[in-house]
Amino acid sequence: MQNFDFNDDDDKKGKGKREGKALKEWDCPSCYANNPTDEPISEGEELRCNYCGNEFKTSFTDAGKLRLKEL
Ligand SMILES: [Zn+2]
Repeated sequence: MQNFDFNDDDDKKGKGKREGKALKEWDCPSCYANNPTDEPISEGEELRCNYCGNEFKTSFTDAGKLRLKEL
């Protein structure tokens, strides 16, 4: 175990719930493919699966877990 001293001040945007760390990948609920993203995923973003082409809207749970709703 290591202690990392994260400096995540730059992702304070004052909207939605912060997740604690930037999430830069997601798993497609339709085909279960893992999709990496260039930008950290944010609340209310629309993501498209690179594999099956389905589109999803993101939201975060109170626990900071990513949820994907099919569009
Ligand atoms: Zn997919």
